[in-house]
Amino acid sequence: EAKEKGRGNFQFFSEEMNRNALDRNALEHKLRRAIEEEQFELYYQPQWDMHSRTLIGVEALIRWRHPQDGLISPGRFIPVAEDTGLIRPLGEWVLRTACAQVRAWQDQGYPPVRVGVNISGRQFRQPDLVEMIDRILAETGLDPCYLELELTETYLMEDARSTSRILEFLKVRGVELAIDDFGTGYSSLNYLKHFPIDRIKIDQSFVREVTSSRDDAAIVEAIIAMAGSLELDVIAEGVETAQQLKFLKAKGCREMQGYFFARPMPADEMSRYLEEHRERLRIPRRGLKDDL
Ligand code: C2E
Ligand code: MG
Ligand code: MG
Ligand code: MG
Repeated sequence: EAKEKGRGNFQFFSEEMNRNALDRNALEHKLRRAIEEEQFELYYQPQWDMHSRTLIGVEALIRWRHPQDGLISPGRFIPVAEDTGLIRPLGEWVLRTACAQVRAWQDQGYPPVRVGVNISGRQFRQPDLVEMIDRILAETGLDPCYLELELTETYLMEDARSTSRILEFLKVRGVELAIDDFGTGYSSLNYLKHFPIDRIKIDQSFVREVTSSRDDAAIVEAIIAMAGSLELDVIAEGVETAQQLKFLKAKGCREMQGYFFARPMPADEMSRYLEEHRERLRIPRRGLKDDL
């Protein structure tokens, strides 16, 4: 009987695995088409400096609207894009669209905001990443100080020497560098000193419980203090409540992003948001020098 059951289980699992593989293949196929047919859209989420109460930047977040399946979340398709190499054309599309959009806002007369673009692991190791970024900046005419790349600890740590080289190349061009989801990856804090990082983004999982969990409060407080002593900017992600905002501000975290301020929105809605907050726009600190 045990044998029967075992076999049943085996069949069950293998069917499940099969289905996952099919899902993945189907998703890969759909993704290829989506790239050809440009079924993607970039959304933008504002980032605020709550010390000076100014809008300092936006994060670009990809959205895939499939004609039949509807909205597919990046959490689902970015990993598939990574595994299949499709992240290359997709990542290039994101970078170009984000840079062109931010440049367009400048051309329309808005004070400049910075745009954060997420870079995944395989994308970061692309041999021609720097070249691609150079080309996109030249094509769109965006000043590099308005582009911030959001990188994650896990892949930065994989090969510290080549990481350093890539980051230095980017930094020389004046591109801003941020560590996304800070605190969740494989953290050797030592790298913060050696890599030319400008900003860390406190992961939203810590921010979520910051007013209810002593541990998360302690972690967030420690991250803010450490960023301060290393002279790194620090931004809290996933701020949803006034209580979280108050806690963060009291601990010295100036910059924030989250549903409390606004959800990610399409470019045209973001234009209206910029219009509404026109007198709250300012040139990012590091860009100031170049603009004066
Ligand atoms: P991330 O870069 O850490 O982005 C933050 C995620 O948190 C976004 O989810 C955003 O919509 C969401 N978020 C923002 N504020 C709040 C809040 O107050 N509460 C909660 N619960 N969530 C909030 P999204 O857009 O689904 O993106 C998920 C992840 O997918 C991103 O995490 C990023 O790692 C990746 N991703 C998104 N767009 C791109 C892209 O263009 N390229 C690459 N390589 N990855 C991307
Ligand atoms: Mg991000
Ligand atoms: Mg994040
Ligand atoms: Mg992330």
